[in-house]
Amino acid sequence: MSNLFQGDVSRRQFLASAGLGMVSATAIANLSDTATAQQSEALPQSIPRGGELPPQIQFPPIQAPTEQETGGPPTALPRERRLGFAIVGLGRLSLEEIMPAFGECKLAKPVALVSGDRAKAEQVAQQYSIKPQNIYNYQNYDLLRNNPEVDVIYIVLPNSMHAEYTVRGARAGKHILCEKPMANTVEECQQMIDACKQANRKLMIAYRCQYEPHHRAAIQMVRSKEFGTIKLIQADNGQNQGGDLNQWRLKKSLAGGGSLPDVGIYCLNATRYLTGEEPIAISANLFSTPNDPRFREVEENVTFQLQYPSGVLAICSTSYGYHRASRFRVFGSDAWGQLDPAFTYNGLQMTIGRKSSSNSMAENITQVRMPEKNQFALEMDHMADCVIHDRIPHTPGEEGLQDQKLMALIYKAAQTHQTITLPPVSRLDITRGPTPRTLK
Ligand code: NAD
Repeated sequence: MSNLFQGDVSRRQFLASAGLGMVSATAIANLSDTATAQQSEALPQSIPRGGELPPQIQFPPIQAPTEQETGGPPTALPRERRLGFAIVGLGRLSLEEIMPAFGECKLAKPVALVSGDRAKAEQVAQQYSIKPQNIYNYQNYDLLRNNPEVDVIYIVLPNSMHAEYTVRGARAGKHILCEKPMANTVEECQQMIDACKQANRKLMIAYRCQYEPHHRAAIQMVRSKEFGTIKLIQADNGQNQGGDLNQWRLKKSLAGGGSLPDVGIYCLNATRYLTGEEPIAISANLFSTPNDPRFREVEENVTFQLQYPSGVLAICSTSYGYHRASRFRVFGSDAWGQLDPAFTYNGLQMTIGRKSSSNSMAENITQVRMPEKNQFALEMDHMADCVIHDRIPHTPGEEGLQDQKLMALIYKAAQTHQTITLPPVSRLDITRGPTPRTLK
């Protein structure tokens, strides 16, 4: 990993002064490429799970060497060796995306459900061949500790419930995958990290985009200077939120905020993982349409600007009022690259613009096509892979905590109309674990 700053200030001092003080030096050290002792103890399991994927079945090539082959059929662990996941909360994301995504997993399988609605849970259990005795509710959730089929708990509840169910899940001896935003406050994030550490369990925040091939390619292109020196990143993510005024997303106590923690977080997180850096200055504006009943408790629109130590400026917008937008563009000295849409579950499109090498008056606009992968399957398999091979997740609790700290500063900057400055952080990807492995 390269150092952005070679100064006489130690990494510990940088972290403390950069507002990362709550991420202890030990915690950061734990994010190094080697697994930590505190995470190495495996739970006793009745069925030994994991192991290496079986060899991929190979077909002879049927296309010319210049043509694209498919990459071969996917391979997967036998079902009895896959890690068992308990899904907590059977709302839209769980039922529309996560449960179907298990069909494309290689290392993970659904084995338990946690829901307040027994009839719904029974219906879902039947659909995915989950045993009725593996259905839990929010009261008897802690009994998961006695279920050796469950290795990982995936928390897909309203944001305000993430902390409690992470802490209880870790105390039940299970590894935790938790939806974004990690929680509603910095303090809750820290409690989640501490609880998982204390229980020797892994904690991963479900930043699905960081496992998605277009985003991984964009990261690689930025880091390898394919666009030259990056000057600016523009990112927008928003949607016109409406319908039920009683939905939890419009309640501050349940959601923590409005568009920023729900969808703006994708822009914030993207500018951080594209550069690998942490911001040194933050300014922001916030506006909610007066008398719009949707925005009695949570904000509608937020714009924020971030300045990164290398000189990259980021301009981001998020909204619960504008028509759906989901994109980012990286402006480099030699080219630009964009994803539009960028943060959707599918249909991502990468476009690159650079001067033509044959005609100085012409601009080449290239559409880069990549095969689509199910982002939830990639993310769940990464979690399973980390448990099986005792690795630090690429997006551990510290990644979620850092976004939470920065979102608090974005709100503060908007309220005070002042630019908030932060001392530079010394290392790239300071809150991330090793690059996720690609599973054939
Ligand atoms: P949802 O409202 O559809 O589902 C929430 C579930 O929690 C429901 O089953 C509901 O019954 C249950 N629940 C339990 N206690 C509740 C309470 N007190 N109030 C309201 N619901 C309660 O929400 P969702 O869209 O599935 O979002 C769940 C989580 O997933 C959120 O943290 C959200 O930010 C996150 N999310 C992530 C993505 C992504 O792309 N990664 C997309 C959507 C949502």
